[in-house]
Amino acid sequence: MPDLDPLELLERLAAGRSDRLLHVEQVPSRAGTSVGWPDWVDPVLRDAWTRTGVALPWAHQVDAADLAHDGRHVVLATGTASGKSLAYLMPALSSVLEGTRALNGRGTTALYLAPTKALAHDQLRSIGELRVDNLRVAAYDGDTVDEERAWVRAHAGYVLSNPDLLHRSMLPGHERWASFLRALQYVVVDECHVYRGLFGSHVGNVLRRLQRVCARYGSTPTFVLASATSGDPAASASRLVGLPVAAITDDASPRGSTSFGLWEPPLTDHGGENDAPTRRTATAETASLLTDLVVEGARTLAFVRSRRGAEAVAMTARETLGEVEPELADRVAAYRAGYLPEERRALEDALRSGELLGVAATSALELGVDVTGLDAVLLCGWPGTRASLWQQAGRAGRARRDALAVLVARDDPLDTYLVHHPEAIFGAGVEATVCDPTNPYVLGPHLCAAAAELPLTDDDLPMFGPGARDVADSLVERGLLRVRPGGWFWTRPERASDLADLRGIGGGLVRVVEDETGRLLGTVDPGAAHATVHTGAIYVHQGATYVVDHLDLADAVAVAHREDVDYTTSARDTTDIGVVGEIARTPWGDADLVHGHVEVTNQVVAYLKRRYLTGQVLGEEPLDLPPRHLRTQAVWWTVSAEQLVTAGLDDLDVPGAAHAAEHASIGLLPLVATCDRWDIGGVSTALHPDTGRMTVFVYDGHPGGAGFAERGFAAARTWLTATRDAIAACECRDGCPSCVQSPKCGNGNEPLDKDGAVRLLDVLLGGAPTS
Ligand SMILES: [Zn+2]
Ligand SMILES: [Zn+2]
Repeated sequence: MPDLDPLELLERLAAGRSDRLLHVEQVPSRAGTSVGWPDWVDPVLRDAWTRTGVALPWAHQVDAADLAHDGRHVVLATGTASGKSLAYLMPALSSVLEGTRALNGRGTTALYLAPTKALAHDQLRSIGELRVDNLRVAAYDGDTVDEERAWVRAHAGYVLSNPDLLHRSMLPGHERWASFLRALQYVVVDECHVYRGLFGSHVGNVLRRLQRVCARYGSTPTFVLASATSGDPAASASRLVGLPVAAITDDASPRGSTSFGLWEPPLTDHGGENDAPTRRTATAETASLLTDLVVEGARTLAFVRSRRGAEAVAMTARETLGEVEPELADRVAAYRAGYLPEERRALEDALRSGELLGVAATSALELGVDVTGLDAVLLCGWPGTRASLWQQAGRAGRARRDALAVLVARDDPLDTYLVHHPEAIFGAGVEATVCDPTNPYVLGPHLCAAAAELPLTDDDLPMFGPGARDVADSLVERGLLRVRPGGWFWTRPERASDLADLRGIGGGLVRVVEDETGRLLGTVDPGAAHATVHTGAIYVHQGATYVVDHLDLADAVAVAHREDVDYTTSARDTTDIGVVGEIARTPWGDADLVHGHVEVTNQVVAYLKRRYLTGQVLGEEPLDLPPRHLRTQAVWWTVSAEQLVTAGLDDLDVPGAAHAAEHASIGLLPLVATCDRWDIGGVSTALHPDTGRMTVFVYDGHPGGAGFAERGFAAARTWLTATRDAIAACECRDGCPSCVQSPKCGNGNEPLDKDGAVRLLDVLLGGAPTS
């Protein structure tokens, strides 16, 4: 491996196309601070860690471990490779080990929860490598065989599992876990930043149910959470577990410096909608950069959002290399989901050893996979959050090695804004992870599950939030719960935990089935089915493309056939919105900013075909689907008629200005909330019947809301200022996908008034409070 200077490497990449490299940030190196082992750490464990290479722990590991050992709930939110696991393993394994020795059996227990099975198994393996006698560690998940399950329930001290298993098996069957739960002293929630939005809201309720069941057995476990760097981790973690959580955020592990480049692909004249210019796709640009880095001999990992994109990047790089340096072509691979653990390990080893020089991966590789010391990381498109950005960029360099990272912008307002505003990436803290466990649509099924586990009493309700009683009452009305003197009871024959689907919105997923074989290709959220598996839609499964022949709404099934196509589809819809009630309102001068409940009526009316690699629009097909109704939360803003005059907007200009501002603001909401633009929707209108004024709504796309609109309301000034700046800064003339055009616009991106949107946002922001 040649010793590559990251900055020189970046300069060579940009040679002849320096206009694409908009910014280089030098992220300085950091010396580490190590401290002594806490004296309460079991000496046997301490020796084992020393033997496996941990000379002394870093300060942040000990700070978090000490708090947990004192019984304080704590979240450790630090960067990739900062050794978060040692922080929770010190207290958890020490107490499990001491308990085992003291009682010659099961003294205390600890439960480790990971968002994926793969991560739990990686953890199991690394604890096994400590080779500590008497430490009874076991995984318990869908792969655990029956005989082993009984042993784990009866004897294991440290159990590695996931929230899904807790929800479906451990909590409903808590009697079988009685001795484990009675002794439960620590609950470790690893990678807790993954629990955001609707998924986070579900997991928050599962953790509350766990606390309630533990209380029944007389235990009050201490929660230890590990998170990627995130904004206000104490608040996010407290919301997730429903308990006050302290945060440790000072990373004391050493790091080399990172040269971080922000890269914008060039505009092309491929016709977009309404003849707007489009940019070369981030996928094509990333493939070029990967090729160049491999030629330079740099071990490079490219993160691509979709599996299909990852495959396209690897394939394009291999093809190009095949022409210039054929012997390098075989040293580039795609990392696909669905790999077996052994295959994954082999690929990681090959990348680590340098046998492979380039890998294009989906973010599946982000979680708990051990690839260290790479030379460069390419990020194909904004990964959604600053937290993910640092997590992914952190794969390069590590421990005192200098590294290169390049973010390649996609053709949308958020990416464009970010590469033109490095301070929004490097100057701002990372965003807060939001979830809302009190969302009644999420809470309802969990109250049923809780009542099935143990009758629900008045005393239980506060932990589920202020609206829990209303939700319980409505469950009684719907015949799901029964009121008896001892509380609320679940008396129905079916399993209450089946009502909640942690990773979807529940209520019957739509199955996607192959026509010839009847094979199940996958499932789709019912809320997303109209937009993603309508007739003619392209559905991608394991890298292969399928064309949907028809969507049967009554049977919740979409039938598709295998066909190689070189285009993608995106649905077009129309949306009406009605205000149901306000939650909070802030006047901004003559303008108003409101957070409230809304009912959205949405109808998918057509779909658009675009060429896969260039994004060029090929055509539009109409669809005949019924409207859908959604009760959710929204943030909206209105301006007065006088303000429209001030903005120089006459009656004909207002719809285009409001529409353009709406599109860009949807694109920019992920700057302040951990959602992406597909989680939210918007409506703009020159005169809304419920507000009597020009109004722009941005709403959560899930029933009841997932906290995104609420977050937009709380951070409205930052959010809408960025929206205004993103539009103003775009170099196009009349609007393009980088600023005000939206790939999911129901109106074919018409009318859009780019300049009017800037003036409109200026008058709105003119009244915003300055603090
Ligand atoms: Zn533009
Ligand atoms: Zn639109």
